[in-house]
Amino acid sequence: MNDYLHKILEETKQKNLNEPEYLQAVNEVLSSIEPVLNIHKEYEQLAILERMVEPERIITFRVPWVNDEGKIIVNRGYRVQFSSLIGPYKGGLRFHPSVNQSIMKFLGFEQIFKNALTGLPIGGAKGGSDFDPKHKSDNEIMRFCQSFMTELYRHIGQDVDVPAGDIGVGGREIGYLFGQYKRIRNAYEGGVLTGKDICYGGSLARKEATGYGLIFFMREMLNAHNNTLQGKTVTISGSGNVAIYAAEKAMKYGAKVVAMSDSNGCIYDTNGIDLDLMKQIKEVERGRIKEYLNKYPNAQYIERTNDDSPIWTIKTDIALPCATQNELNLTSAKKLVENGVIAVGEGANMPCTLEATEYLLKHNVLVAPAKAANAGGVATSAIEMSQNSMRFYYTFEEVEEKLDRIMVNIFNSCKKAAEEYNQSGNYVIGANIAAFKKLADAMKAQGIV
Ligand code: NDP
Repeated sequence: MNDYLHKILEETKQKNLNEPEYLQAVNEVLSSIEPVLNIHKEYEQLAILERMVEPERIITFRVPWVNDEGKIIVNRGYRVQFSSLIGPYKGGLRFHPSVNQSIMKFLGFEQIFKNALTGLPIGGAKGGSDFDPKHKSDNEIMRFCQSFMTELYRHIGQDVDVPAGDIGVGGREIGYLFGQYKRIRNAYEGGVLTGKDICYGGSLARKEATGYGLIFFMREMLNAHNNTLQGKTVTISGSGNVAIYAAEKAMKYGAKVVAMSDSNGCIYDTNGIDLDLMKQIKEVERGRIKEYLNKYPNAQYIERTNDDSPIWTIKTDIALPCATQNELNLTSAKKLVENGVIAVGEGANMPCTLEATEYLLKHNVLVAPAKAANAGGVATSAIEMSQNSMRFYYTFEEVEEKLDRIMVNIFNSCKKAAEEYNQSGNYVIGANIAAFKKLADAMKAQGIV
């Protein structure tokens, strides 16, 4: 890192002392972009980085709601409107007890770069709450969502800020949030939220988009190295939205998904995971992954006992971390390499620690970085917004075809940027450089704002 980058990193550390996830995300980007700064000296004079690491706006708010026993609970809500450089703020909402300002800021920061890579007009944001949706009734979820939106509505709008889902926020929550927004605003602004159900303005293939997009990116990356998904074993952490649809598309390309997980442990089924059963347990019954054993007692369940996810000890050709941040650490990376992994595709945001990514790259493992590989979700959200504006809907095949094309373009821009800066095959650096250059040029064009 040159002096300018060091200075930015130090200042960011000083200003954000208790925000390790945010600092990690900033560090990852800063570590990649020195070659660009060496050519574009004007970026330093224009304080591009100083401005990029400071969110445009952070909103925090109280979310009081009443549970089924009549008890009043108070949660904290967040919306980090990080950057509106290339479009309205755009990024998901996460409901999980671990949510705090550091996690919101890291996700918002990542989102700016991811959205830039899609080539679509969307800025970067993230929001959510420390509310835990697990074991809550539908009515409790609804009351929480209504209270959350009763504050959030004044900060969003289809040309201002467009939230979507993330961990703990799926179709059900988006529906309750949308209903409350519409009621308060007395207007049908279809494009104010994405991830909506098809029956009231959602896009076909949005639910599948992040997982499918990850596999499209993986297909392109393997192809560039004369390889394919056909016949490969795949392990996928998580069993939520991203994990399930990554599994579905990987299977379509002839791969065998042998393991999936939740936060309690993982299922290892050498015959290949029964995805219909997994969808039934996770999407319909909202149960625990261990229940898979009720139908397949011969599958193995490995309980999680410490910080290391047990799923990464399983031998695999391709590993897809699709659960949460920092779920694949150095110990896991070493185990994967020892077991002969050829590629890692980040479906979750920042699932690999910096040390894990460095280790994988050093051992010639192909790494598909989150901000490029999981951009299919937000790209399809942008397609949902455009359908809402047109008041016209595409077929599933049309959306999937557009998504596929977008993922091919994202892969190609990462590849091109890596090659241009003598980092051929390093898509982590390629993604950071391609996105950074676009954002820096937009910032330069718009003056000091
Ligand atoms: P879901 O809530 O649908 O699923 C999350 C899955 O990850 C669940 O299986 C959950 O297990 C597991 N998980 C969550 N937290 C932890 C944890 N601390 N440790 C271990 N496992 C955990 O979320 P999504 O599938 O939507 O999101 C997964 C990841 O993908 C997140 O990083 C998200 O930011 C990212 N992402 C999502 C997009 C989308 O379109 N949905 C778009 C781009 C990125 P359990 O049920 O036990 O909690």
